Amino acid sequence: IDKEMARLDRLNLIGEMAAGIAHEIRNPMTTVRGFLQYAKSGKAALSPANLDLMVEELDRANSIITEFLSLAKNKNTDKQLQNLGNIIESLLPLIRAEAILDGKTVVEDIGPLTDFPFDAKEIRQLILNLAMNGLEAMQTGGTMKLRAYEEAGEVVLVVEDQGSGIEPDILVKLGTPFFTTKDTGTGLGLAICFSIAARHQAIIDIKSSETGTAIYVRFKLASCQS
Ligand code: ADP
Ligand code: MG
Repeated sequence: IDKEMARLDRLNLIGEMAAGIAHEIRNPMTTVRGFLQYAKSGKAALSPANLDLMVEELDRANSIITEFLSLAKNKNTDKQLQNLGNIIESLLPLIRAEAILDGKTVVEDIGPLTDFPFDAKEIRQLILNLAMNGLEAMQTGGTMKLRAYEEAGEVVLVVEDQGSGIEPDILVKLGTPFFTTKDTGTGLGLAICFSIAARHQAIIDIKSSETGTAIYVRFKLASCQS
């Protein structure tokens, strides 16, 4: 609970976020500007690799803005009474398509679930962010499991990967906006998950070992009626 509160506190630090996003967007701009200056100087033409890098950098800046907006936008959460299992099912083809590209497998285990009110768009985003992290963690392949079950008045979603796990010093930083260990990461995926979970009064638990990571999202059936 303490860790959860600390995460929420971090999410509320708008000033920190603004500084973060400014920094994250200025980096790609500096890179692209540098290349353009170089091209303008007429010393040499930009190589295809340079052009690729420029496009990549601009794409990254764009994803940061898109993801940041979905993190900041919390006013119009639109909760409808529905079934989490259906949402997971509808995402499976997309997640599988992504997995198959790298020879990874995705399996599902969805039990009978009571409907509860949630914002389908937000929960889709949460599942996708967790699933993408799971796939990205399995660098040498493996099976990712998407599970959902009901237990003690809660609907529980579990995204379980066979990646190499999360070191304790990394674990405490998860959910901090812009924290990433990936070259092309935005470090916003989990921050968005925590923010969406908070808007649904859901708790996120992370269990990790050197054989993989399981992320639990627990939705309370009684207290999420609002
Ligand atoms: P990004 O994926 O862009 O790096 P995220 O917020 O989604 O940003 O994740 C932040 C960091 O948390 C990742 O860079 C990675 O180090 C770690 N992480 C998240 N999910 C997992 C996972 N399933 N297994 C291992 N590490 C993970
Ligand atoms: Mg991610």
